[in-house]
Amino acid sequence: MLLHIGLDDTDSPEGGCTTYIVARLVEELEALGVMFADYPNLLRLNPNVPWKTRGNGAVCLRMEVEPAMEGVVRKMVVDAVEGQAEFQCENTNPGVVFHTGEIPDSLMDFSDRVVQGVVTLEEALRLINDAGGHAIGYKNMRGLIGALAAVGGLQRGDHTFEVLTYRSPENCGSPRMLDEGSVRAMDAALCDATFNNVDPESGRVLIAPHGPDPVLYGVRGETPEAVYRAYEMVKPLEPVERWAIFRSNQGTDAHLRYRSNVDEIEAYSPAIVSGEVTEAPRTIKGGHVIFGLSDETGRIDCAAYEPTGSFREVVRKLIPGDAVRAYGGVREEGSRRTLNLEKMEVLKLAEDVQLVNPACPECSGTMESMGRGKGYRCRRCGHRDSNLEKHPVVVDRGLEVGLYIPPAKAQRHLTKPLSRYGMEKEYMHGELFQPWHGA
Ligand SMILES: [Zn+2]
Repeated sequence: MLLHIGLDDTDSPEGGCTTYIVARLVEELEALGVMFADYPNLLRLNPNVPWKTRGNGAVCLRMEVEPAMEGVVRKMVVDAVEGQAEFQCENTNPGVVFHTGEIPDSLMDFSDRVVQGVVTLEEALRLINDAGGHAIGYKNMRGLIGALAAVGGLQRGDHTFEVLTYRSPENCGSPRMLDEGSVRAMDAALCDATFNNVDPESGRVLIAPHGPDPVLYGVRGETPEAVYRAYEMVKPLEPVERWAIFRSNQGTDAHLRYRSNVDEIEAYSPAIVSGEVTEAPRTIKGGHVIFGLSDETGRIDCAAYEPTGSFREVVRKLIPGDAVRAYGGVREEGSRRTLNLEKMEVLKLAEDVQLVNPACPECSGTMESMGRGKGYRCRRCGHRDSNLEKHPVVVDRGLEVGLYIPPAKAQRHLTKPLSRYGMEKEYMHGELFQPWHGA
């Protein structure tokens, strides 16, 4: 029988990682004789919900098991979660969902909505009940939402792969030791099939996280072969305890699917809004850049935060009258909503017309005003003229129509990088690449 096991919310800001629990489970389950029907699925959920732990990723394992073994498998999974989840953290509320057989459309739709918006726990509980699956929710049970979404996710459409490597427990918490030269060499060799290894602007290596979690590094790419090749090329300078390849919605913009009017956008949800710049960008404390965007239904602040680096320079060049399509997550403070920009498409540029002082009619030199209504005087030849006026000049905008995305280091897990445009693919069920995990 086909068994799907979804897990979510086992980690905390202090440590842990749902993918690590799963990577260990894969080995235990394989020893038990199960046949995996897919790579472990890593489903990134709506990154804008305020109650997320860290990366907001849920995981699903899909396998063929003998019906007689189902109970053993279930106990193994529950023991793993109860033994390794960060229960002491207030915001860690693990969930485990077991589903047998085909995935119904209702679960696929639910999964899409968890990635693209906000759903309630009641809805998840109702679906679990309808689907006849088994589920265990701990503490406030919120993890059931992500666990169920993982079960219903990645059934079709665009996807990517990530090879994740894990550190020995004794090294967790200390700086990660990687040969950065080997990462750059890997990036150069596999730049067409992997993404976001190195930040092109700063040259910074991006594959290693910085937190206390057990991940040593992860390389994202288009195929299992490509990320396995990357795994072979990257030289760690500390032991790799184990590794596994995940199939994921990372880098696919799966959260950014719906265009809305300003008056339809919802707090904590991703949104795509087209409109006209109605208030010029201003830089506020902390280096964040904010501008006003309006459509026929209302106006909203759009923000490019300081970590988006050079993306802010692009945003600063906008002027009122420009037409843009803004992509991002909606934040809410009091009654004020802000679209936190993840990408921006400049659709149409307004003419930037500025009034400049006239040129000298005698020598074409630069003239300066002698005071309001008193005319102009040439700086070069001294010619005075009281009949001249400022004249309009169209200024070069230094900005092109097109799509702009913050640098790799500031992108969210779900953000589709520029290098992936045109690489979108459908999911086809098939044989798994070997090897896809190891210890
Ligand atoms: Zn002159």
